[in-house]
Amino acid sequence: VTTLEKPDLYRLAEGGRTLELRFARCTACDAPSFPHSPYGCPRCGAPADALREEFRDGRATLLGFVTLHARLAPGIEPPQVVGEAEIAPGLIEEVMLAGDETDFTDGMAIRAIPHEVQREGGAVIACRFAPDPEAAP
Ligand SMILES: [Zn+2]
Repeated sequence: VTTLEKPDLYRLAEGGRTLELRFARCTACDAPSFPHSPYGCPRCGAPADALREEFRDGRATLLGFVTLHARLAPGIEPPQVVGEAEIAPGLIEEVMLAGDETDFTDGMAIRAIPHEVQREGGAVIACRFAPDPEAAP
């Protein structure tokens, strides 16, 4: 499987074991933003043509998480652990975590990994976050 579920948000890193996230870097204020917005810089309001695509490795810090037991969206099989993560300095996003809540603790280093999911058109690679094996304990 090499088809990405959301190719506008991430790509496979070299080696295929992790994902790189597609950020935008503002040439006016230098702030990173995610996802890459067609409306320009969310920090300073610079127009979209001031943004430069920037892939960053999917390292993040897990700030907190909850387990969802209800089916909240198509294609998400409960239970699903959902977290809040700082994916770049000052940039906090909701992320989906791979595994169950016993795998995670607040403040731990996590990393975006490819996770195969079934969709109507077949298997695709979704983005999940898992404990970063390269992080110091
Ligand atoms: Zn800006």
